[in-house]
Amino acid sequence: MERSSELYARAKDLMPGGVNSPIRACLSVECEPLFIKKGDGAVLTTEDGKTYIDYVEGWGPMLLGHAHPDVTKAIQESAANSACFGAPCLAEVELAEMIVDAMPGVDMVRMVSSGTEATMTALRLARGYTGRNKFIKFTGNYHGHGDPFLAAAGSGFADLAIPGTPGVPSGTVQDTLLVPYNDLEAVRKQFETNGDEIACIIVEPTAGNMGLVPPVEGFLEGLREVCDQYGALLIFDEVITGFRLSYGGAQKRFGVTPDLTTLGKVIGGGMPVGAYGGKREIMDRVAPTGNIFQAGTNSGNPVVMAAGIATLKVLRDADYDALEARVAAFAKELHAIIASKGVDVTYNTIASMFTMFFTNEKVTHFDQAKACNAKMYASFYQQMRAQGVYLASLGLEAAMVSFAHTDEHFEKTLEAA
Ligand code: PLP
Repeated sequence: MERSSELYARAKDLMPGGVNSPIRACLSVECEPLFIKKGDGAVLTTEDGKTYIDYVEGWGPMLLGHAHPDVTKAIQESAANSACFGAPCLAEVELAEMIVDAMPGVDMVRMVSSGTEATMTALRLARGYTGRNKFIKFTGNYHGHGDPFLAAAGSGFADLAIPGTPGVPSGTVQDTLLVPYNDLEAVRKQFETNGDEIACIIVEPTAGNMGLVPPVEGFLEGLREVCDQYGALLIFDEVITGFRLSYGGAQKRFGVTPDLTTLGKVIGGGMPVGAYGGKREIMDRVAPTGNIFQAGTNSGNPVVMAAGIATLKVLRDADYDALEARVAAFAKELHAIIASKGVDVTYNTIASMFTMFFTNEKVTHFDQAKACNAKMYASFYQQMRAQGVYLASLGLEAAMVSFAHTDEHFEKTLEAA
């Protein structure tokens, strides 16, 4: 058995940063990752045989937990029978149907292979459809690593890409109008000055990437209104919120319908996936019906689609209210354990990490969220380690905490969850 630290040393020679871990890279967290050998529900076992609880669902995709039997079975069956990858398949149609049925703003959908691909294509589509170039993007919202200008604009991930950084086209940076999250007045001001140049607003309808910040009352409705007034498109980036805040995503939960929606994470059941969809007349602009090219070798891959269908079937029958209540109860329990360890960490921080179901009411703006997150990512790890509590940043970028070796209480918590 190879210890995680030995594996990390081996990996560091092969990969910058040692593993694929955007969180560690962007926040410059120096923390040894854990290498996971096995996942089962919320419990993960490392290569060194330690067990951990994953409380961010592998950073989003594993809403049903790791190795859910239905999903595993669907993947196995599809992999054993898929004759051809990169070709049209029934599973793609079935997953598309499930997404269209669930999401009020999605009349048509296209599969891609990541959330990044979904947001990049949606933005390209918005530009093509409106014939305008500028975008409104909110401080602290994250939309993937595909386009430096999006990353540049205050995504909260340190200097992921800043104007002047080699490789960042300054033109696109200038096209990004950066506005504070939840600040409708600032959005209106941008439209008053740049109204006929703005192609779209892209927004996380609950900002998962800045600490689970919900929209303040009237914010999403206001965005819808201003887009309608100026002929711009409203894009909901539901890569995190889709099928999580409700079966139909944030748009169903908050009752505001966007023009375009981007998806990822959950809809692949842990397999690499993304999707973008929206109103028929806009989606019709995608080739071959329209002139906006998008197609990928692995888009609609049958194994990925099968995993997504199996996942959505479970979620379709789930009682989201009951799940949310259960998660809130678990979060409370977890906070109590952490407090008993004397670890100085805010309620918000844990809540935001713990689960995307947990609506955090105390944080409404990026600066607060950033302060929480910075605290968490920097000192929380160290404090927990110092207490003998294992906390790690995975290659998956997930943060996990385990009390298994140090606290009997954990066992009870786990059972209760
Ligand atoms: N959009 C949001 C809201 C995200 O949270 C993420 C990833 O965390 C992305 C887009 C990018 O998705 P992916 O990592 O699959 O490229």
